[in-house]
Amino acid sequence: MLVRRFRQEPGTADLRRFAPVVEAVLRERAAFRALDDEALTGRARRTARPDLADDGDLAGWLAVASEVARRRLGMEPFEVQLLAAVSMLRGRVVDMETGEGKTLVGFLVAAGLAVTGRRVHVLSANDYLAGRDAQAGSPLFTAFGLSCAAVVDGMDHADRRAAYRSDVVYATVHQVGFDLLRDRQRFEDAQRLVPDLDAAVIDEIDAVLLDDAMVPLVIAGDGEPRPEEASLAAVVAAMTAGVDYEVDGERRNVSFNEAGIAALEEHLGVDDLYAEDHVGLLTAAHVALHAHALMECDVHYIVAEGQVRLVNDARGRVADRQRWPDGLHAAIERKEGLEVTAPAEVLDQMLVETVARGYRVITGMSGTALDASERLAEDLDLRTGAIPTNRPGIRVDEPDRLYLTAERRDAAAADRVRAAHAAGQPVLIGTASVADSERFAVLLADRGVEAVVLNAKNDAAEAGIIARAGEHAAVTVSTQMAGRGVDIRLAPGAVAAGGLLVLGLGRYDSARLDHQLRGRAGRQGDPGRSVYYTSLDDDVVTEHLVINMDPRTVDADGRVRDKRFRRIYEHAQRVAEGKLLQLHRTTRRYHTATDQHRRLLLDTRERLLTDPAALEDHLAHVWTAGSDQPHRWTRPARRRLATEVALYHLDRAWTRHLQVLAEVREGIHLRVLGRQDPLEEFNLIATDDFRALARAAAAATRHTLDAASEHATTLADLGLRRPSSTWTYMVADNPFGSEADRFFEYIGQALRGSQPPAISYT
Ligand code: ADP
Repeated sequence: MLVRRFRQEPGTADLRRFAPVVEAVLRERAAFRALDDEALTGRARRTARPDLADDGDLAGWLAVASEVARRRLGMEPFEVQLLAAVSMLRGRVVDMETGEGKTLVGFLVAAGLAVTGRRVHVLSANDYLAGRDAQAGSPLFTAFGLSCAAVVDGMDHADRRAAYRSDVVYATVHQVGFDLLRDRQRFEDAQRLVPDLDAAVIDEIDAVLLDDAMVPLVIAGDGEPRPEEASLAAVVAAMTAGVDYEVDGERRNVSFNEAGIAALEEHLGVDDLYAEDHVGLLTAAHVALHAHALMECDVHYIVAEGQVRLVNDARGRVADRQRWPDGLHAAIERKEGLEVTAPAEVLDQMLVETVARGYRVITGMSGTALDASERLAEDLDLRTGAIPTNRPGIRVDEPDRLYLTAERRDAAAADRVRAAHAAGQPVLIGTASVADSERFAVLLADRGVEAVVLNAKNDAAEAGIIARAGEHAAVTVSTQMAGRGVDIRLAPGAVAAGGLLVLGLGRYDSARLDHQLRGRAGRQGDPGRSVYYTSLDDDVVTEHLVINMDPRTVDADGRVRDKRFRRIYEHAQRVAEGKLLQLHRTTRRYHTATDQHRRLLLDTRERLLTDPAALEDHLAHVWTAGSDQPHRWTRPARRRLATEVALYHLDRAWTRHLQVLAEVREGIHLRVLGRQDPLEEFNLIATDDFRALARAAAAATRHTLDAASEHATTLADLGLRRPSSTWTYMVADNPFGSEADRFFEYIGQALRGSQPPAISYT
């Protein structure tokens, strides 16, 4: 029964080899049924620290865990769930369809890793799920004497610290990343939040390691005002389109023309703004121009309570804890005449992927892990296998219905929804953005269908709504993000009406995301159906292909029957996937050198915090041999201040280094176009600047300590100021593309003109 689809593809694993262990669990667990609760708990406690590398011990432990789950959670793991747990405990990633019970598998795997003495983080898709699962799993964990906690927004330092000391911690990868960033800023070792990363069980592993991998997590502090940027912004604000700058047709790019550059040069009193020395100013001017000419209030952002808040179309109307890359945010605040929030200074940052790579052991699960297997193998050396469904799946996936225009597509889709609704069938409509969801809901209302629209604003509220999406005749419109990880159960009447109909409006940029949406229907052997309504106006087509031909056969309602166009549509999606992958790789390459540098710096930092001998070593590099200063500053009464000064200047130097890198990255296309490999150029600059950083930090430390009075006991006494507050955020997708994206555009334009690849089939 455990023998099912095994696709021999790169990165896949055949999980059939674990079937004997599962059979052993099934045999053994029957015997535990007879034990009373006390005896079972005794048994669970006694298996503490089993050797799960041994198949026999693993089967024995899982048999106990299985019986504990039956009694304490009211769920006895299915055979397929045991197979998933064994596979994951053996380091494989598993592909399990939606609704097959990944949560329970996560409990078994987390407990299995924790009983062998590992510290386990279960990385959830959002805070709501982390809290929910930590609570739901705790009866099982406590039976094994394991502690369990969730780390979510709103917890203070002490609570977080305590939570991280649990054997099993539920959190999002963002929470962990932000806390790691906070740890790196600490001045006392005792402040540390996150113990060494050890084992990670990643829910929706492809979402974390592929979709969100390149999202930068940032910690910022209030920095010094930058008056020159404000005055540049004022000059740019007075500029006129067509006179000082040009906006391209799609309003995605804007550039100064000669008059604009001349005005800037006059204002700044420089001869040539494109000279190497002025890259910083030129970049700031470009950023101000973006804000001035392309960013629109109430489209890209709103102003509320004196603050600029981002509108993130794909995920929700107002995005919390998100800022644009720094200069752009301030530029918009200036444009709106708001107080420029303490010009944030990026103290440090890390990519989501870097957080994940910090774990010694990674395993994970997802409904679409197989679609990602090749990349999981390539990027993280993980092998992925398929878990069969508990009951045979009977969902019907209809072929796409392609229309000439988005309007025709939506009209046909809305008619389909009305018909399904009239027959009592629940329908879940997946859209690309909140705006699309709302537009579609209006079409439905025109047809007399009342729909619930989700906007990804509040995970807990959405969980409640999506959980009811399987009720008789329910109609729910949602973006891909909304209500993740929540089970949609069918109400009795809905089963008779054919189960849930999932209707996608336009395909996403990756087939994997389409597959995720389809997975909402037909869970656990339920009836269900999925279909995508697509059009030649869909972003996935227009952004990636130019089609120089007309379909041969089109129905009166605009439906395209020409088979070639289905292939073209799929081709567009593959082009999109390829571009994303390329972008991903480029971003990673831009971060590799910096990550190495950061590790070097953090090593020094950690040693200063934890190793009593480190200060002596450090100060030996600060003064030349023969100076008596190191001796003076390593005396017991002075050590603490000397350490703080050393840390302070290392941190300052790193912050400055990150600023330089950001400027170089922003400006790299301006510098290197037509010269050499931009990445190589970037790495050269980064490495040079990093070498200079160590020297600069040492010199500054020397300077401060040489000038210090005998009475100084704090940094403030020495005139040094640490950020008075810090905050964390994710860098939102820049509405004009990431740095790498823009960089590609420039290079692409130079190499082959600015058109996307044209396609013509004849
Ligand atoms: P997934 O995350 O894989 O989509 P969930 O973990 O949300 O699935 O589980 C889907 C539903 O199945 C939940 O309602 C859960 O309580 C139920 N379930 C999972 N495993 C079992 C089991 N072994 N016995 C009974 N119910 C189960």
